[in-house]
Amino acid sequence: MSQQALQQALRAWFTAHARDLPWRRTSDPYAIWISETMLQQTQSATVEPYYRRFLQRFPTVQALAQASLADVLKAWEGLGYYRRAQNLHAAAQIIMREHGGQMPQEEKALLALPGIGRYTAGAIRSIAFNQPAPVVDGNVRRVLARLDDISESIDLAATERRLWQRAAELVHVSAPGQMNEALMELGATVCLPQNPQCHLCPVQDHCLAHARNTQYERPVRSARRRIPHYDVVAGIVWHATRPHTFLIARRPLTGMLGGLWEFPGGKLQPGESTAQALRRELDEELGIEVEVGEHVISLEHAYTHFRISLHAYHARHCGGQPQALQVADWRWVQPDDLPDYAFARTDQHIIAALFSG
Ligand code: SF4
Repeated sequence: MSQQALQQALRAWFTAHARDLPWRRTSDPYAIWISETMLQQTQSATVEPYYRRFLQRFPTVQALAQASLADVLKAWEGLGYYRRAQNLHAAAQIIMREHGGQMPQEEKALLALPGIGRYTAGAIRSIAFNQPAPVVDGNVRRVLARLDDISESIDLAATERRLWQRAAELVHVSAPGQMNEALMELGATVCLPQNPQCHLCPVQDHCLAHARNTQYERPVRSARRRIPHYDVVAGIVWHATRPHTFLIARRPLTGMLGGLWEFPGGKLQPGESTAQALRRELDEELGIEVEVGEHVISLEHAYTHFRISLHAYHARHCGGQPQALQVADWRWVQPDDLPDYAFARTDQHIIAALFSG
């Protein structure tokens, strides 16, 4: 079957079966950039309400550029991978300064913006500007590895080059954005990782893996590295004299979860108890002494490159004025103040354990 027939089958299927998602009803490059950034690492169903709220709050590049980073992080709260929000904010300011508030169209200018890599640049160019720019994300990798029955690991640089090359061939059609979206949609709804729905697939006749019955073995992945695990402790540090008042700290702006607020604490060192680690961390980060009290909650959380078990404890402030030694900022707050601050998901769980009934 020819490549043209494959392209036609994909596009016809997409026209008939594409999910009605809010970012598919716009051609505004800014809105497409926001949606593509949110969709990195996050499922469409989770993204939808965030996307709507974010665009209501920051409807233009200008509105985003003029907002405070704290407001942007607050709008992102719960979506994870907070570096994306920081990058959007910084990139919006660059677009205002260097591109007159207009989203650039050229690949080089897009790649120069923080948070825009080859995938996002391709998505913006093809979907918003109708340019024949390929995109390769997790869904496209899987679909192409099956269509061509690629037996080499998709984690190899040579395979990655081959996949981009293949995507670049396929995107040469009159509606390149639609072609890219069709490939991604097929991966998201039909060519599923564990359970490809080949009987529903519009390109079954073009699929080498299906013909050879290797679809369950594709794509091939390299053996995964073991993901490290850490025990982490956090303290709800209560003010010694003011009732219902406790300490929150803002994480450094650079680094993981940068700029978000948290219950202060950190990683246990070898041989340390949770109480010892909490006292040491609060001394190092804020210069305060505490008495560690009752356990509040323990929870598990997985980040991209490691997992943690987080143990939260009540603690009572008993010495030293808080100082921003290894944190960006700190505040004494009361439960009613919490909606003004953006917290990562683990800290939201602690808040729920503390104050929900
Ligand atoms: Fe994926 Fe099956 Fe379609 Fe091949 S035929 S692209 S394996 S769903």
